[in-house]
Amino acid sequence: MSKAVQVGFVPIGGGNPVTVQSMTNTKTSNISATVDQIQKLTNAGCDLVRVSVPDQESAEALKEISSLSRIPVIADIHFDHRLAIESIRNGAAKVRINPGNIGQEWKVIETVKVAREYGVPIRVGANSGSLDRNFGAYDRPVALAESALAQVRILEGAGFEDIVISLKSSSVTETVSANEYLFEKTDYPLHLGVTEAGFGLDSTVKSSIGIGTLLLKGIGDTIRVSMSGDPVQEIEVGLSILKSLGLRRGVNVISCPTCARTEIDVEALARKVKNWVGNVDADLSVAVMGCVVNGIGEGSEADIGIAGTASGGVIFVRGEIVEKVGSENLEARFRHWFDELLSGGDR
Ligand code: SF4
Repeated sequence: MSKAVQVGFVPIGGGNPVTVQSMTNTKTSNISATVDQIQKLTNAGCDLVRVSVPDQESAEALKEISSLSRIPVIADIHFDHRLAIESIRNGAAKVRINPGNIGQEWKVIETVKVAREYGVPIRVGANSGSLDRNFGAYDRPVALAESALAQVRILEGAGFEDIVISLKSSSVTETVSANEYLFEKTDYPLHLGVTEAGFGLDSTVKSSIGIGTLLLKGIGDTIRVSMSGDPVQEIEVGLSILKSLGLRRGVNVISCPTCARTEIDVEALARKVKNWVGNVDADLSVAVMGCVVNGIGEGSEADIGIAGTASGGVIFVRGEIVEKVGSENLEARFRHWFDELLSGGDR
């Protein structure tokens, strides 16, 4: 099991639940826009949020941002150790730095001193796009891992072990191999993600395979899906990965692929159900099936389901039909039974 580190009130590693994180894409110096985006991410289920700190103004903005955020804020720093120190003093719960880029050893030692004083962990790591040339002799996954371990040794050399490590490649297979290698070499918690994964479907597929493969092997303590566009999508995909692997509570919506037997608009109803259950914190499964021929059987393992008929549908709860409904009140009755199930406490 990995060591645990504490990021504000959120633990990472040590057998704690795998957390989902994202990163704002507003200008950090624009406090209201950044806080607004953090609010949306938090509402979507984000556990930890990272913001870039490219300049002094952003480091100063962190004070207000971290005090207004309901979740711990992580500062992402490149090169300038003074920004890392100021971010920690201004409320960052963790900092992401590259000790190799920070420069002279005394700068790393100074950063580590403040991080220790404030109880703030440091994330180090390697990305395929900025791989250290010193590791060119290795296979790429090994080069990624060894380059991150070299950064770890810099921090350890400064007496600091409150560390999270990330290894990211835009290649799924490289990300998986690199993390497998690293997992054998260290017990620091690992931050997983496929970097520059694209947008929409591409990112969803790459992230699900890369992150999912590792999590299934028991590797990884916190995840970030990388997706161009609104970062809320990253949280939706991240949570879906965790729910699919049974690593996060939540309602699982099952729906059939539809075929010539389909009697109801399965996709439209499944989308509505998804909205009803968005914030329900319960391990439930809800089935939306197109017909009774196969629908009841296939959906019978769900806690509640609906199967289409020529005149509407049948609603079943744990495999038992509880009501036959006409098409005009199909959705309303299904919602009624769903709410009944939720209020029944049997979950
Ligand atoms: S549940 Fe019915 S409608 Fe849906 S795919 Fe199966 S047979 Fe077709």
